[in-house]
Amino acid sequence: MTRVNCFSEVRGVCTDGAGQHSVYLTFDDGPHPFCTPEILDVLAEHRVPATFFVIGQYAADQPNQIQRMIAEGHEVANHTMTHPDLSKCGPGEIQREILEANRAITMASPRASVRHIRAPYGIWTEEVLTASADAGLNAVHWSVDPRDWSCPGIDAIVDEVLDSVQPGAIVLLHDGCPPSELQPGTDRGLRYQTIVALSSIIPALQSRGFVFRSLPQDH
Ligand SMILES: [Zn+2]
Repeated sequence: MTRVNCFSEVRGVCTDGAGQHSVYLTFDDGPHPFCTPEILDVLAEHRVPATFFVIGQYAADQPNQIQRMIAEGHEVANHTMTHPDLSKCGPGEIQREILEANRAITMASPRASVRHIRAPYGIWTEEVLTASADAGLNAVHWSVDPRDWSCPGIDAIVDEVLDSVQPGAIVLLHDGCPPSELQPGTDRGLRYQTIVALSSIIPALQSRGFVFRSLPQDH
């Protein structure tokens, strides 16, 4: 299976013409029972929108979190049903992973309009792009990755984002973690660094003239 170059075929930066200093926040691997509400609180405090690439099985288990995302003006997008490496899946499995996640999101919130997909681990193949397009989804990668999932420290996350952001940047952060990496009992503080870093990143970028926007519909 051929992996595609994400920067030629999948949008990693968004230039929608809405402004020279747009920046887009995206969160993968949620919703998470403890971390997602705290992320949503920070976004609400600063009144900025984000896109949540959710895992379908989590969305099915926590419909109230999907409903809150929608109610607070965020976009809910597809990060597959169970977060597999899609380059190791057959075409039927790829299609199922994508369509089941769409269904789980719209079951959780009929108001959700799923328009975007991000492949687990950012691993895109021609088969994944075809199945995504067939499901009516646009592929979205990222341009700024502070590797917050590895808990590198609050300052490291903040510095990487502030050093790397360009107009149109799509920032990758995490409000949960894949099912294969969940460790019950230790997950309450799972995204503590991300949450605290986000509280600094938002006002720092706003003071530089950046405006946080939702991914455009035709993206
Ligand atoms: Zn992921």
